[in-house]
Amino acid sequence: MRIIVLGAGVVGTAAAWYLRGDGHAVSVVDAADGPARETSFANAGHLAATSGPWADQTVPMKLMKWLGREDAPLLLRPRFDPELVRWGLKFLRNCTAARYATNAAPISALGLMSVSATAGLRENLDIDDDFSDRGTLTLLGDRKDLAEMPKRLATMRAAGYDASEVVQGEIAAIEPTLEHVSGQYAGAILARGDAIGDAHKFTVGLAARAADAGVVFRYGARVEAIELHNGAARGLKLAGGERLDADAIVLAAGPWSAKLAAPLGVKLPIYPGRGYSATIPVAGRNGAPTYCVVDEHRKLYFTRFRDRLRVAGTLELNGFGPPSDKRAAATLGHLRRMYPDGGDFSQVENWSALRPMTPDGKPLIGATGVPGLWVDSGHGPLGWTLAAGSAEMLAALIAGRAPAMEAGHFDPRRFA
Ligand SMILES: Cc1cc2nc3c(=O)[nH]c(=O)nc-3n(C[C@H](O)[C@H](O)[C@H](O)COP(=O)(O)OP(=O)(O)OC[C@H]3O[C@@H](n4cnc5c(N)ncnc54)[C@H](O)[C@@H]3O)c2cc1C
Repeated sequence: MRIIVLGAGVVGTAAAWYLRGDGHAVSVVDAADGPARETSFANAGHLAATSGPWADQTVPMKLMKWLGREDAPLLLRPRFDPELVRWGLKFLRNCTAARYATNAAPISALGLMSVSATAGLRENLDIDDDFSDRGTLTLLGDRKDLAEMPKRLATMRAAGYDASEVVQGEIAAIEPTLEHVSGQYAGAILARGDAIGDAHKFTVGLAARAADAGVVFRYGARVEAIELHNGAARGLKLAGGERLDADAIVLAAGPWSAKLAAPLGVKLPIYPGRGYSATIPVAGRNGAPTYCVVDEHRKLYFTRFRDRLRVAGTLELNGFGPPSDKRAAATLGHLRRMYPDGGDFSQVENWSALRPMTPDGKPLIGATGVPGLWVDSGHGPLGWTLAAGSAEMLAALIAGRAPAMEAGHFDPRRFA
């Protein structure tokens, strides 16, 4: 089959790789000038196989409490936006303990499969993405977090991680660069073996191997519309009028997927959730951590990519509105506070992007109801973690094979 993948982020590039592996003639079209230039560019890098969805029972209260607070970990900007209302109501329905558990289980199962598939690609294709599996030190803010610890340790251990409790006094012994702030935290969880990698470097490497294997990448090509012939998706119309034909289209356009599907009557519940990062070169300083450090309460990751240190995270719901200078400055401020000698702050690279968020945190993988139109999108805060596993699943569905795990959890039509 001739298949066009719309989107060269980590998700679309992984899909192209697996589809090519099945013998399809694959091309990838992206408006950007290279792979992973949008949401997959400078994320936190955590291969978060045991993470759950954002929607949990604590979120509605937090959103209310932090309304209008510019530096809040979760910020909802009140705006007239029917999409936000529609999506928000579905999101709120998922903010219960029971729904969290139902949603977290398949995300985690896909995450474990996916992290292992990503490792296979990294190794077999010799991709250097600054991978490290030294582990993650998750700092817990208060007693409530401590009370949740046994449940979390059990989840991590069941997933195969060497996870242990760290009392407050031991934090600095494990990660000496935290000496000056360790007293501000109630305790921590150390997950040895938990991994990080640079999603952008990985995607660039995978795109190069895919091109060697015959995938055709076309950059700088903005898609205006997915075109139908006799009711089936059979091509793309590019800005400038050029048309590309295909037997099938895979929509992997991250936060823009919903806008591209809507004219075909396909409603994808994907809303943009903005996050921020700031990256500095370590530049020989001694104050950068060796573990990936997570500040649970502030929703921030501090990730060491070999010779770079990055802070990334927080969520802002403001549609496709512009990034906030104040939030970018607050993000960088946290890097200075935690790691004042972590690197060269005069060379900081600030970044911001939109996560493609679904209301239940599960990605949308599979058929759309329009013949020939498939979707692999809506990976929210976990696209790097879930890309390879999602791509394997999508390729199996397109080929008519049974995927390695139940694909129904991720059915794009589950909200209809
Ligand atoms: C601050 C932050 C931290 C994060 N941390 C983590 C983490 O630690 N672990 C993790 O697993 N995930 C993390 N994520 C989430 C992860 O980055 C995303 O889920 C993932 O990058 C989404 O990938 P994608 O390929 O779906 O989208 P994208 O990377 O955005 O790719 C979509 C592509 O589609 C193209 N496109 C869109 N519209 C058109 C059009 N009309 N024509 C042509 N091309 C088009 C865009 O140019 C883009 O290249 C984080 C995200 C953020 C913002």
